[in-house]
Amino acid sequence: MFIKARSMRTAVLSLILLIALLILILGMLRWGKQHVRKSIEMGVIGRNVSNITIVDVYDNVGFDPKFRIGFGFGCVVKLGNNTILFDTGGDSQTLLENLKVAGIKVEDINIVVLSHIHGDHTGGLLGFLEKNPNVKVFIPKSFPQSFKEEIVSKGAEVIEVSEQTKIVEGVYSTGELGTLIKEQSLILDSTKGLVVITGCAHPGILNIVRRAKDLFNKEVYLVMGGFHYPPTTVAKELKKLGVKKVAPSHCTGEEAMKALEEEYQEDFIRSGVGKVIEV
Ligand SMILES: [Zn+2]
Ligand SMILES: [Zn+2]
Repeated sequence: MFIKARSMRTAVLSLILLIALLILILGMLRWGKQHVRKSIEMGVIGRNVSNITIVDVYDNVGFDPKFRIGFGFGCVVKLGNNTILFDTGGDSQTLLENLKVAGIKVEDINIVVLSHIHGDHTGGLLGFLEKNPNVKVFIPKSFPQSFKEEIVSKGAEVIEVSEQTKIVEGVYSTGELGTLIKEQSLILDSTKGLVVITGCAHPGILNIVRRAKDLFNKEVYLVMGGFHYPPTTVAKELKKLGVKKVAPSHCTGEEAMKALEEEYQEDFIRSGVGKVIEV
């Protein structure tokens, strides 16, 4: 009798445990299905696009004095019906203020792409999501789970990127590059050639440009963003790779900036916060 009662108790306990485990697994599956989508295969490269406007909305390099300077990088890419925020700078107050000055409505932004985990690129995200959670946020797959959950808790959708990915027509991610600090860069397949936008270029600006060229088998028209303090030889190397124009800012550094200006002359675009580039 005693043994029977004990085995009954064990059976009930195991049943409860099993049910709890099942609920946990189902919950995890549901979370994954609803909120985190794997990056879509790039598939066949679509039509190239024109009428692209890129606005530097967060930068530690100044350009238009109407805009606030903050350490970090963020820019808005407008093409067709899409308004994409690539990186969010170091804080949302500066980001939101600069968007207003640029005449970009927060609610018009439908896609956010984060290049890498560093705070000078992700710091403005949560404050932005409080104003507009109706966005898809494309992040490197290697981002911590807690970061992904925080985005979802604000009501936005997370899309994890590991390989090269089509974001919308004409806009692609290089996929995660680099080893220690994984980073994705944006590639716009424009009628003038490829436009490569980098956050900090931790994987190396030349590697990123090579990757873009390999993926599309097309020439690079413009490289912009942070070049991550490269040696001055970067100017000649980029020329050798056939890059037509450069618009460096953020973490490029004075020396490299000077070398790029000397090498590129009229194809050097002076960039910084508030700069508008039309492609
Ligand atoms: Zn960084
Ligand atoms: Zn940076």
